[in-house]
Amino acid sequence: MFLTQFMTKGWRALATRGTDKPDRFRNVSLIWAAVALAAFGWSVSAMLQANLFESGPLAEQLFKPHAPELWSRLAMVCALLCLGIIGQRVLARRRRVEAQAAHYARILDSSWTEIYFFDGKSLRYVQTNEVARRNLGYSTQAFMQLTPFDLMPELDEFQFNTLAGPLRRGERDQVVFETFHRRADGTDYPVKGRLQLHTKESPPVFVAIVQDISERRAHLAQMQRRNMYDTLTDLPNRHLFDDRLGDAIAAARRETTPLALILLDVSHLRDIRDTLGHRSADRVLQQIGNRLQYVLRPSDTVARLGGGEFALALPAVDFEYAIEVAQRVRKELAPPFTLEEIPIHVDAHIGIVLFPEHGDDPDILLQRADVAVRQAKREKADYVIYNPARDPYSLRRLTLFGDLRHAINQGDFMLYYQPKVNIKTREVASVEALVRWRHPKEGVISPSEFIPLAEHTGLIKPLTTWVLNEAIRQCRACKQAGLNVKMAVNLSAGDLQQLHLPDEIAKSLAAWEVGAHDLVLEITESAIMEDPERALRVLARLDTMGVQLSIDDFGTGYSSLAYLKKLPASELKIDQSFIKDMAHNSDDATIVHSIIALAHSLGLKVVAEGIETAEVLEVLGILGCDTAQGSYMSPPLPSDKLIAWVKAQRVTLDKVSYAN
Ligand code: C2E
Ligand code: MG
Ligand code: MG
Repeated sequence: MFLTQFMTKGWRALATRGTDKPDRFRNVSLIWAAVALAAFGWSVSAMLQANLFESGPLAEQLFKPHAPELWSRLAMVCALLCLGIIGQRVLARRRRVEAQAAHYARILDSSWTEIYFFDGKSLRYVQTNEVARRNLGYSTQAFMQLTPFDLMPELDEFQFNTLAGPLRRGERDQVVFETFHRRADGTDYPVKGRLQLHTKESPPVFVAIVQDISERRAHLAQMQRRNMYDTLTDLPNRHLFDDRLGDAIAAARRETTPLALILLDVSHLRDIRDTLGHRSADRVLQQIGNRLQYVLRPSDTVARLGGGEFALALPAVDFEYAIEVAQRVRKELAPPFTLEEIPIHVDAHIGIVLFPEHGDDPDILLQRADVAVRQAKREKADYVIYNPARDPYSLRRLTLFGDLRHAINQGDFMLYYQPKVNIKTREVASVEALVRWRHPKEGVISPSEFIPLAEHTGLIKPLTTWVLNEAIRQCRACKQAGLNVKMAVNLSAGDLQQLHLPDEIAKSLAAWEVGAHDLVLEITESAIMEDPERALRVLARLDTMGVQLSIDDFGTGYSSLAYLKKLPASELKIDQSFIKDMAHNSDDATIVHSIIALAHSLGLKVVAEGIETAEVLEVLGILGCDTAQGSYMSPPLPSDKLIAWVKAQRVTLDKVSYAN
């Protein structure tokens, strides 16, 4: 029964040879069939030799006297067959193992990660894949001489045991590591990998699956750079600039040295973008970035904060040096930028702030530098050093803003009057009304401080209404005292946008029975330029009414001849910045001379303001200036002193003696 079973299996195995039956089963069946045949042959041969079979026709045929030998040969053949099959099976197995190994090697080689097998005892590599060999530059043979310590210069025995220990003890399936791989040529690259215990049998085999992360690292570094640097100019961006400025402030605090921050805003960028396109504007920005680097010391930082805004952090720099840098920046940006052979001019407005005077953290310094830049833009100045008194956003300003509204309702203001004296006749031609705020806590506050605040918040309108009414009332008082002086009132940009302003003035003039020709309105060019069309409409109506117009602070704004001609003005006031030093500064004297000539050619009377010395008054007389205003004649006076001063005024051409 047992035998037949194996015979059947053997037969089946033979019958199914070459089919898809597993080889293993076929070989086993054949071996058993051969063994069975051999056993049968030997048994029969042994039985024949022992004459166990009776003679008969079949026995005679089968078991002739030479038959035992035949049977024993048959058994021999079966044994040989059996051996052959066993040999073939061993060979097939080896081939299968080799094929399997080649198959695994192909799989390993097709992997895009580095794979290393190493002996857990000697730590020598036993197998590596193609990527590992290629990345590290070692041959398969060379690898067999290496251990992980040769590939990973940062790895020491302690670290290896810390990694491999939990795997050996079965506490973990894998451990992750990140290190450097050293190539055969001595160069390194960053890797990240997993270490696993491949086989536990002695000796244990570890497998390390490792990935070259240089690209990922480079990408990460690029991302970080992108987060820190401006992609257009390759300069630090706002983020990095904040960091650097923070560090510079910390160092300046430690070393008790000053620090300057320069902010510049490039103008005309929009024009370049609109006419030549975005790429041209970008190229100009890149060139600006390059030029700015020329003005820097190695310790300085220049950054592009966005748009046309650049910032310079200058450690250990005082305010004089900061001004020098600002001037150098303007000089660098002065030559035109050439784009497609078109010369492009750009202008920059510069704001300067200093640590610790103007703030002690990057945010505040940048915010204040921005305020200074805006001021530079408004005033068309080359650069402006931050002045807290002129910052509409400073804390004091915000507090004052709250108080200002209240003060307007309460009428906490007063007017001072400064005489404008005819240089030839020494007669007081007019007086200028200058407002003061009587603050309950701060005392008297100057208009330079609160007028910009009132202008920013719209409170200038009710304030101007009050000033106009009060000044016209004072003009009436002068007239009643027998003094024929005109009254000058300052107007702001916001006032010039009020189309009903002429009606309001007319009402006030009528109420105090003062003629329109006795009122002079002082306006600056920049106030007109905020909305020139509307301002000109208002001014034209005032002119028709007979109110006189005076152009204030001439020389600081646009100083545009075209507009000057359009304005219905009768007077031009040269800004005090040209007057103060003109006796000693020939440039100022030349400018003043030209302005006087220009104004006269346009039929305008000229007032020089800010006269502080007899010398200046004398020079102005020689240059043909018509009217003088300044502390040399009289500072602004309160209303109760004005009439007395004008009355007491006795001036002779030879002996200049102004009594205050
Ligand atoms: P402004 O109209 O140019 O007035 C002349 C300023 O120069 C006044 O300053 C005056 O006090 C000052 N000043 C006069 N003589 C001298 C001098 O010899 N030396 C020096 N250093 N300064 C002199 P104040 O009164 O502080 O007014 C400053 C500015 O505030 C005025 O400049 C004007 O623009 C504005 N302001 C004054 N009152 C009003 C007002 O009622 N409404 C408006 N919108 N602005 C006003
Ligand atoms: Mg004025
Ligand atoms: Mg002025």
